[in-house]
Amino acid sequence: MIVLIGYMRLTLGILLGAAGMLISRLTGRGGGLAVSGLIAEVIAPDIYQHVGSTLKPDLVFVTGTNGKTSTTNLISEILAAKGAKVVSNHSGANIARGISGAYISSLFGSAFGGGARAGVFEVDEAVVPQLATAMRPSVQVFLNLSRDQLDRYGEIDRILDNWVKSITKARPGEEQALVVNADDPRLFPLVEGGNQSEVDVITFGLEEQPSFWKDFDYATDREFCVCGTIVEYRERFSGHLGDWFCSSCGRHRTRPDVTGRILESSQAGTTVEVSVRPVSEMRVFYVPQLGEYPAYNLLAAAAAAFKLDINLDVVEGSVNQAKAKFGRQEQFHYDDKVIRIWLAKNPRGLDEIFKALIVKEAKRQHLLFVLNSDVQDGKDVSWIYDANFESLRGRYRSLAVSGFRASDLSLRATVAGLENIETCDDIGGAMRASLDAMDGGEYLEIIASYTAMLEIRSIVAKLTDTAPFWK
Ligand SMILES: [Zn+2]
Repeated sequence: MIVLIGYMRLTLGILLGAAGMLISRLTGRGGGLAVSGLIAEVIAPDIYQHVGSTLKPDLVFVTGTNGKTSTTNLISEILAAKGAKVVSNHSGANIARGISGAYISSLFGSAFGGGARAGVFEVDEAVVPQLATAMRPSVQVFLNLSRDQLDRYGEIDRILDNWVKSITKARPGEEQALVVNADDPRLFPLVEGGNQSEVDVITFGLEEQPSFWKDFDYATDREFCVCGTIVEYRERFSGHLGDWFCSSCGRHRTRPDVTGRILESSQAGTTVEVSVRPVSEMRVFYVPQLGEYPAYNLLAAAAAAFKLDINLDVVEGSVNQAKAKFGRQEQFHYDDKVIRIWLAKNPRGLDEIFKALIVKEAKRQHLLFVLNSDVQDGKDVSWIYDANFESLRGRYRSLAVSGFRASDLSLRATVAGLENIETCDDIGGAMRASLDAMDGGEYLEIIASYTAMLEIRSIVAKLTDTAPFWK
């Protein structure tokens, strides 16, 4: 009887959740996933256990500060290529309700063709322990942990502590694997904790810094080992990621199980050699994005695929299917020109973009910076002085600046010794000027702060007829 009531509550929760989603869409209020998830959760609090057990064994969580969305897309494509019907929380609704909402949508979204049988979800750092305890994912991917999180959640240590606690609670006989970035010293407690509690841990990381990025100079923060000593690096790859070691306690980066070597970076993408060492598999991949992060995302996806018994042939077929998402290296085509949008939130992120723009064709690049100073952008724009604008010298064909703080950008660029700076207060006008300066086949790299990104994206979407992002 109790089982029957539980089942009825669950069914009712799913049905009413679906009704809420339908109403939200019919009234033009967007995708309605969160609303749907909220309704389901109120009526059937055990919805997460149900979704988890339905989707296993192909249930993957992806978490970390950078790259969650791209990696989630990649792993979804890989599972789909294997023939699974995959549900994912695509539209950035990366909280519990977005996940149950996405699952409910999968039940009703494809003409009653049966619900999803595999799930790949991007999960916010702070909700990982709670959601992992409820849903019991087979594979949890930990990409990286950057200081951005301090603003939103408080202590990095507390987040890590909660992660380690949640992974050590594996039940006997339960398949559970952790995929961890070996290059991030902050994630090392996961490797240690996983090994101690006999949870399967697989690591990924880069082999070395490619020669064309070796000289890039950017401000680096001090990084601390678990023992409290400052971590040292044999080689830094990106920010606090690298081949690290601690000379005090002897902790050091474990040799990654899945390794990557960046062979080439061109305007259209990055060539990465991936090796899965436990099975001696190796392939060269081409990813249509720039910088180290896409390589890390690829390695994380290849490591997750390895844990899901999927080989690199399947991974290879899937990589080109995964498109960059909303505002993160998102590309648009305008006639025979390419417009690419980058979101810059802080000097560290901006330096990563500058480094990623060191490509074979750097001298043919067109750059447009747009900086606003709304609350979401940060009122204080002095942080642009901490980023390496100097690295752009001699590396572009045209350079324009715009937004409320166009004059601050113009001054920063001048101080950096950059020449031929076009200042245009009107964003639309700045874009027009940039497009006019371009030849066919060239790229316009638009680097924008948050509200500027939203503004520029709607202009570009109109220009190129791109649908709203939630569709
Ligand atoms: Zn140490």
